[in-house]
This record gives sequence, structure tokens and C-alpha cells, in this order.
Amino acid sequence: MEKIECDVLIIGGGPAGAVSAVTAKMNYPDKEILVIREYKEQLVPCAIPYIFGNTLGSTQKDLGSCGQAKEMGISTLIDKITDIAIKDKIAFSANKAIHFDKLIFATGSQPFVHESLQHALALNGVFTVSKHKNLIDKAKDYITDKEDIVIVGTGFIGIEMAMELANSDKNITIIGGSNHILKGAFDTEVAIEAEKILIESKVTFISNDRVCEIIDKNGDNIVNSVKLKSGKIIDTQVVILATGYKPNTQLAKKIGLHLGTYGGIWVDEYMRTCNHDIFAVGDCSSRRTFITKTASKVMLASTSSAEGRTAGSSLYGIKYIKGFSGTIAIFSTMIGDTAFSSAGVTQEEAIKSGMDIVVGTFSGMNRHPATIPDAQKQFVKLIATKHGGQIIGGQIIGGKETGEMINIIGLMIETKQTIYHVMSMQVSTQPMLTAAPTNYPIVMAAIMANKNIS
Ligand SMILES: Cc1cc2nc3c(=O)[nH]c(=O)nc-3n(C[C@H](O)[C@H](O)[C@H](O)COP(=O)(O)OP(=O)(O)OC[C@H]3O[C@@H](n4cnc5c(N)ncnc54)[C@H](O)[C@@H]3O)c2cc1C
Repeated sequence: MEKIECDVLIIGGGPAGAVSAVTAKMNYPDKEILVIREYKEQLVPCAIPYIFGNTLGSTQKDLGSCGQAKEMGISTLIDKITDIAIKDKIAFSANKAIHFDKLIFATGSQPFVHESLQHALALNGVFTVSKHKNLIDKAKDYITDKEDIVIVGTGFIGIEMAMELANSDKNITIIGGSNHILKGAFDTEVAIEAEKILIESKVTFISNDRVCEIIDKNGDNIVNSVKLKSGKIIDTQVVILATGYKPNTQLAKKIGLHLGTYGGIWVDEYMRTCNHDIFAVGDCSSRRTFITKTASKVMLASTSSAEGRTAGSSLYGIKYIKGFSGTIAIFSTMIGDTAFSSAGVTQEEAIKSGMDIVVGTFSGMNRHPATIPDAQKQFVKLIATKHGGQIIGGQIIGGKETGEMINIIGLMIETKQTIYHVMSMQVSTQPMLTAAPTNYPIVMAAIMANKNIS
């Protein structure tokens, strides 16, 4: 068995592992950092839906690079860790024993499929949205000449898959168990706007129903239809299960690390497990929400990267006092030409959690005057505490600028800004780039929230 020595071993080369490695090297330049990941070619997971249509068109156009890792002196090994001797600080692959001082789990997540549908994964034409290149290549090849596709799950991954495939002239039916798409991230009035675009794009949307059976009626191992809880049968050539992800924690379980509510590795605010030489970051770690501090199922590259930065700078003692205080679930998605972004709690979630809140909304245009070519409508919603006006959530509909505007709201949430800070906030505006200074939507939404308090 080959022996390897390093100071910091990181298992996993996804966003969480990569950011942990770079941050660790920047903070501890003299330490030997080794990243181990299973596959040579690593997809950029967030762009996987765009492989299926014409936007990217192939996995070759969605390969992640190791960024500055090599130039910074970070080593990478393609292998799989199968066991760890915690006391001796040795991780084992099939033919290597790797001695480490600090260990970071960044083993990510894998598609979750309800047990009632797992048997169907063996059928030709049934796929999950995996992060592995070979599996995505296989799914893409299979789908290319098929016309009828059922997508199960109306989260942002299901919706992005539906829109990309609909743009390639496929007949798409998307089925979700709740009233509206993008549940949890958006309030009903925002989700309805997203649904309108879905339907205009000729995607058939079935709400409040569940796929209870995936059928191979000819017994030839090829899927033909799905049966819904309502009794409806939908004929299809392909079924894509976009029904969520589960933390990849087999190895962590094997070595006895504590797990959290939804099965992720338990960590404190500095991403330390119960053993302070072992950290966990990204989708494999256990998460809680920033505002309500309840266990969270959120799995995002944005959250994973922030966790990687915290772990990478806390390996040999707490360097920066601010740890990771929970996910603000910040993300954006594009549906047609319209962007939808969200951060923090929704109004519906806040009310459910018993919070005393106030809401401010504003609809305007993203350019000024509205006659500027390509100007688009923009809608901003802010959710704040009624007492003190602390901003705890935001949602935006608009053009591509939405993806950056939500980051401003995200920082407001994380740094506990109030609507009163925002009401007199100075903003850079320019006709071709932004909304008008007189009607800047984030500022106006704060003003409306204040009006609604009194
Ligand atoms: C289709 C899709 C679209 C998405 N879009 C967005 C988006 O727009 N915005 C956003 O913020 N998030 C998005 N996400 C979520 C985001 O991709 C994940 O949150 C992110 O990938 C998590 O990063 P990670 O590093 O924790 O895990 P992963 O990306 O899952 O990486 C895990 C790594 O661990 C390695 N590994 C696991 N076990 C072992 C082992 N035993 N030995 C060695 N290596 C091992 C794997 O090979 C891999 O390198 C999307 C996800 C998908 C699937």
C-alpha cells in the first residue's frame, strides 16, 4: 500500500472542497493541502440543465476547472476514500494510506429518489439529475431523439430542466406535489408569475399530484408511462426524477461522526464536527437556517462555498470570529427571459414560524426611462421584522441584473440591516444598466414596508 503524507486532506472536489482548499492554502501557505475526488472530469453542477438543450449542448462545455489550485501548490488525487482510522489520522483508498493532520469532509450529495420509485431506476428512459459526467452523457444521448418527457419535481432543477428541454421542442410535462412551483423559495404571487412563463413555453404543469408508479407496460425494460396519485396516466418516453438530493455521508457514518436532523454531518459554526480535527462542508454537512435557526434541507453551491471559506480559515484555530451562522438559501433561476431570485425567509414561512413581520413590494422597470431597448419589468419584495424593521427575506423578479441585486439583499440579511438603512441607501444608477434613482426598487420596497408598519 502506497503511503502519502499531507497536513490537510479534503475529501471531495466539488464547490465546497475546492473553496476549502484554496482558502486553507491562503491562510496556511506552509501546509500541504491534498484534495481527493472520485472523477477526473468534474461537471459544474449548476449548469447541468443547460447540457440538455442548445445552451451548452454537451458535458464537454460544462467541465469545472481546478481554478488556481495547481498554481497555488494544492495537490489533487483522483481516487475514492473508503475508510478512515480516526485515531491514527489515516484515510484509505483501495491502494493508498494517506496520513493527515486535519480532515475536511466535502463529499457532497446524491439524488434522492423516494423508495416507492427506486425500482424504476433500472428501466431504460428513467434518469435522475446526477452530477456525474458519465451518467449525464448517458441521459443526454438517450433523450436526444425522444419527444415526450415527464419531469418529476418542481424545484428549480426540475424547472430549469423543463425549460431547457421545452426550448428543444420536446413535449414536457412537469409534476409537483404542491400547489405551486419553487415551493419554499418564493411566495405564491411570485411563483404564479414563474408558472405563467412555464405554461407560455408550452410546458404542461400538473400541481398537487404525485407520481406513484413508473410503468413498463410491455415488459421490455423501457418506460412507457407514469401513474399519478389522482389516477391519471401520462404516456411518456422518458422520466426525469428531480426529487431532491441527500447528503453523501456513508463514510462519515462508518467512522461514527454525529449526523444532524436531515442526515448531514453535524457541525458547529466553524464547520467543526464533534472531533475538532475533522470538518465538514457543503451538501454533506448538516445545515440550519440563518433566520429561524431550524434544520434546513437547502443544498446550494453558494452556501457550500461560504462554508468552505469558514472551514478553510478555521483549521488551526479560529482566525476570524465570524463563523457560519446558517444558510440564507440565496439563489436565482432563469425561466425564459425572466430571472427569479430569493434570499432569506419567505413571507409564508415567516408567518408559519410565528414571526411578526411586515412586507413591502414595489414594481417598476429595470432601466430608465422605460423606453430604453430591452427594458424589463422588475418586482422587489422585502420581508422585515415588524419591530425594528430588520430585513429577513427578499424576492426579485426581473432581468439578468436580478442575480446580483439579490446578493445586496443577501448581505442586508446577513449583516442585519433594517429597512431604515435601505430607505436612505445610495445607489449607482445608469439608464442602460439600472432602474431609476427616483424609483430604485429595493429602496422603494423598503419605503413601502415602512409605510405598512404604521
Ligand atoms: C442540476 C443542478 C443545478 C444546480 N444549480 C445550482 C445553482 O444554480 N446555484 C446553486 O447555488 N447551487 C446549485 N446546485 C447545487 C450545487 O450544485 C450543490 O449544492 C453543490 O454541488 C454542493 O457542493 P459540494 O462540494 O458540497 O458537493 P458535490 O458537488 O456533490 O461534490 C462532492 C465531491 O465529493 C467527491 N466524493 C464523494 N465521496 C468521495 C469519496 N469517498 N472519495 C473521494 N471523493 C469523494 C465527489 O467526487 C465530488 O468531487 C445545483 C445542483 C444541481 C445538481
